[in-house]
Amino acid sequence: MIDVELVGNALCLDFTNTVNSRPVARRDWLATPEGAVTWSSAAGHPIERQAGLPAALPDARDLRETVFRVFRPLTRGDDPPRVDLDILTAAYADGLAHARFERDDGRFRFAWPAPRTVGTLLREVTASAVDLLTRGPLERIHACPSCQWLFLDTSKNGRRRWCSMTACGSRDKARRYYAARTSS
Ligand SMILES: [Zn+2]
Repeated sequence: MIDVELVGNALCLDFTNTVNSRPVARRDWLATPEGAVTWSSAAGHPIERQAGLPAALPDARDLRETVFRVFRPLTRGDDPPRVDLDILTAAYADGLAHARFERDDGRFRFAWPAPRTVGTLLREVTASAVDLLTRGPLERIHACPSCQWLFLDTSKNGRRRWCSMTACGSRDKARRYYAARTSS
């Protein structure tokens, strides 16, 4: 059983990390209904296993790639493609049309009536993406130089470089050590 890794510090970024590599994924939490249920539950946005779930997974993967195409350029200081921003805007507008305010500790947030379907999750991901885009800080959004996973650097000094030090950070360290040894 593989653990769900949540390193993004934002739902929308974690959602783009449901695939382990691009363009060809060796592991994809959104490839099967079981994977989607497991991931969403670990991410704190559980969805119910429903009859329509398998048919909705392509939409989930589409949104994932849209969100990735929006945030990946920002990690290099570039603007997202307008077409992807427009897709996000349309998805957000559609979500808002069905949303209602719910109290969430010291503030309100948009929520959607039960049952919690994959559609609910996609609306939450969309809202998270809009929230991050409009509030930033965009300069704190990075891509791991090893695996390309996206994350929001919430560290105090703002110098986080890796998706996780235990995974890519140490792997890169070992690789550089090896490269230095073999080139001398
Ligand atoms: Zn990484």
